[in-house]
Formats: sequence, structure tokens, C-alpha cells
Amino acid sequence: MTNVVVCGVGGRMGQRLAQLVLESGDLELVGATEHPGHEAVGRALGDVVGGDRREGDRAVTSDLNQVVGRADVVIVFTSPEATLTDAAVCSRSGTAMVVGTTGFSGDQLAEFQKAVAGISCVFAPNFSTAMNVLFKLVEEAARILGDDYDVEVLEAHHRYKVDAPSGSALRLAERVAAGLERNLSEVVVHGRQGEVGERTRREIGMHAMRLGDMAGDHSVFYGAPGEYLELRHHATSRDSFALGALRATRFAAATEPGLYDMADVLGLR
Ligand code: NAD
Repeated sequence: MTNVVVCGVGGRMGQRLAQLVLESGDLELVGATEHPGHEAVGRALGDVVGGDRREGDRAVTSDLNQVVGRADVVIVFTSPEATLTDAAVCSRSGTAMVVGTTGFSGDQLAEFQKAVAGISCVFAPNFSTAMNVLFKLVEEAARILGDDYDVEVLEAHHRYKVDAPSGSALRLAERVAAGLERNLSEVVVHGRQGEVGERTRREIGMHAMRLGDMAGDHSVFYGAPGEYLELRHHATSRDSFALGALRATRFAAATEPGLYDMADVLGLR
């Protein structure tokens, strides 16, 4: 059995991750955290997570320090600030991590990478297996189509998402830029409004829609006179991310310290 702590267990991803850990058969839910003041803190884990199997009277805590000692792997899908605090705790205790949080600033990302340097950590903007295949395909398509094709990245998520564009959309754009041998930060254009002039040939456009309860939709368009190609991933539920994160959990528990992403977990390098 691999012992798992889920941080942010009251959240959309945290709930589903905890439920799937309980159903897994090879992973044990040994603790969970929530934001101080969240209604789940102090309540029994089984109550918070629901499902058929009850996890006895282990309470949800607001301090990862209290439960990290029981964990082989800590799974974190929360906020950048909370993830940085949890990374410092895991680093001190030498506990592996699986991190899906998005929306880090450049400085936060550097701090996070430094904090997890000595532990095994899988960090990915999208844990879905099919999306990770798409990361490979969009780079290859960009390389084949080349500079004759305009590229635009479109993503759509639920109304509650706080960061834009999504971490996955950024990764898609990075892979496209790599395929075209461009530096994304120099060519990216976020949305367009007003007298923006004709499209430049080298720019990569990015657009974010926020509506309803969409789990996540990503498309990369390649257009030239007479045709366009759309490569699209459509998440129908959060299970695609949660199941990928559990796959990453088994990988993190069994691997040497290092910073990995889903391409490592899936053998896509
Ligand atoms: P959410 O808002 O539903 O859940 C986040 C939870 O974290 C909340 O319950 C919040 O109270 C909790 N939290 C905040 N601070 C905390 C703290 N200090 N300690 C413990 N818990 C704390 O959001 P969500 O939709 O579940 O997404 C969470 C994150 O995961 C976002 O950054 C989102 O973009 C990302 N995400 C990544 C993937 C992926 O595959 N990598 C997939 C889906 C979502």
C-alpha cells in the first residue's frame, strides 16, 4: 500500500482525488488538509469525502505538518501560495509530491522548483493521458506545417477558474513554439481588441473562454489559405486529471528524487 495525503480535499479536484484513492485498492488515504477556516477542517475524512467506504475518525487538518509523517506521497491541487507552503513541508520531511496546481508567477515557480529539488515530485499542468499525447502531437504538427500556417490556441473552462490562460494552454503554446523554433514570450498575443492591425505571421494567439461547468477544452488551430487543422482535447470530467494524478502518485512513490512531469510518468520522452 502507498499512503497518500490529499491537500485541498474540499476542492473540486481534491474531492475526486480522495474518492479515487479510496476506490483504488493499492493507495491508502491517510490524511487530508484544507484551508484554515474551511468548513471541512476538523471533520472526519469519511464525512468530507463521502462514498461508500468510511475512513474512520481521521480529521481533516489545516496543517500538513500534522499528517505528512504518515504519507508516502502528498497530492496537491490547491493555490500557488498553499502549494509553496506544502512544498516546504514535504521538502523538510523528504516526502514525495504530486502537484497539479496552476497559475504560478515566474517567481513562485522558481521558489517551488527550489523547494522540491531534493524530493521526488511530479508537477504537471495537465495530468490527463490524452492531453499529454496532444502535447507531443501539436509540436510535431507545428514542425511539419511550419511558418506558412498561423497558429491560435483556444481554451474553455468552468466559470470558477481563477487563472488564464490555463496551464495546459500555455504548455500547448510552448510545444508549438518549440516546433516552430520560436520563443513563446516573444510571439504570444493574448486575445485581441481594437485596432490591432493585420495578424503578424509569427505570432501565436491565445484565447480563454470561461463558462458554466466545463471541465476543460483545448484546441490548437493551424490555418493557411484554403484550409485549417484543429487538434482538440475535450475533458468530459475531472476523472481524466485525477486518474492521471494517481498514476503519477505510484510513479512518485517508486522513483528517485527529481522533478518529473507526466511525459516521464507515461514514458513519452
Ligand atoms: P478548487 O478551488 O475547487 O479547490 C482548491 C481547494 O484548495 C479549495 O478547497 C481550497 O479551500 C483549498 N485550499 C486553498 N488553500 C489551502 C491551504 N492552505 N491548505 C489546504 N487547502 C487549501 O479548485 P480546483 O478546480 O480543484 O483546482 C485546484 C488547482 O488545480 C487549480 O490551480 C487548477 O487550475 C488546478 N488543476 C490542475 C489540473 C491538472 O491536471 N494539473 C486539473 C484540474 C485543476
